[in-house]
Amino acid sequence: MPAAHAPSPRTTVRRGAARAAYDADTVRSVLSAGVIAHVGVTTDDGPIVLPMAYGVRDGAAGAEVLIHGALANAMMRVGESLDVCLTVTIVDGLVVARTPFHNSMNYRSVVVRGMASAIREPDAKLAALRVINDHVTPTWADARPPSNSDLRATLVLSIPLAESSAKVRSGDPIDEDIDLDGPHWAGVVPLETRWGRPDAARDLRGNPPVPPGVAALAGTDAHPSR
Ligand SMILES: Cc1cc2nc3c(=O)[nH]c(=O)nc-3n(C[C@H](O)[C@H](O)[C@H](O)COP(=O)(O)OP(=O)(O)OC[C@H]3O[C@@H](n4cnc5c(N)ncnc54)[C@H](O)[C@@H]3O)c2cc1C
Repeated sequence: MPAAHAPSPRTTVRRGAARAAYDADTVRSVLSAGVIAHVGVTTDDGPIVLPMAYGVRDGAAGAEVLIHGALANAMMRVGESLDVCLTVTIVDGLVVARTPFHNSMNYRSVVVRGMASAIREPDAKLAALRVINDHVTPTWADARPPSNSDLRATLVLSIPLAESSAKVRSGDPIDEDIDLDGPHWAGVVPLETRWGRPDAARDLRGNPPVPPGVAALAGTDAHPSR
């Protein structure tokens, strides 16, 4: 994994630039903690942004984000190589200021821009699907593998992490001096997201054990900060 990369002109954060980071460790830590990516493309019908599962790994050509979808998915129909913008956002808290103008959120976010390319070779496709699956739900080793028809119906895309940016806000509201002695409350409301206890499917037959990776999720922070 590269230690750092310079932002490109189009991944340079302009407003709130002090909160921006472009090093691989920060970008990867946000992507590791996130669960859902919002992926935007331009289609013949206009722009579309879809929430999708994703995975991250160091590929042969460098770090990459992997996404998958049905071939019929509007985004996947766009073509073989596709200009995308992928965003992952984690909200860590509400920042309540003394005036609504200064209300904010504590957050960690990443924006990845680049050309997505399809992974078609069957073994490479399976390996990529495992990365996506296990990013959120580590069950690949404990579940039925995808069938050949599952694989044929699924397109897997790789997006290089080379052009990416992170933005992180933490801490108190930033109020104006004239408000500091005023009557209004200010502070932070943390947002905590935890996985609950696994709840067996109503049609579960026999008594298969909860996969270890699923059992281990219970009670853990869904968006760990490190
Ligand atoms: C939960 C949340 C809520 C937000 N709410 C608002 C809001 O209500 N209004 C508002 O104006 N802004 C909001 N922001 C900030 C917003 O995402 C942009 O960072 C901000 O608008 C400044 O963009 P810019 O003009 O500097 O960047 P642009 O010129 O729009 O973008 C240039 C490049 O900067 C990078 N970049 C921009 N924003 C981010 C980001 N958040 N994370 C990682 N990389 C980024 C991207 O690589 C992008 O290609 C919010 C952010 C988060 C995470």
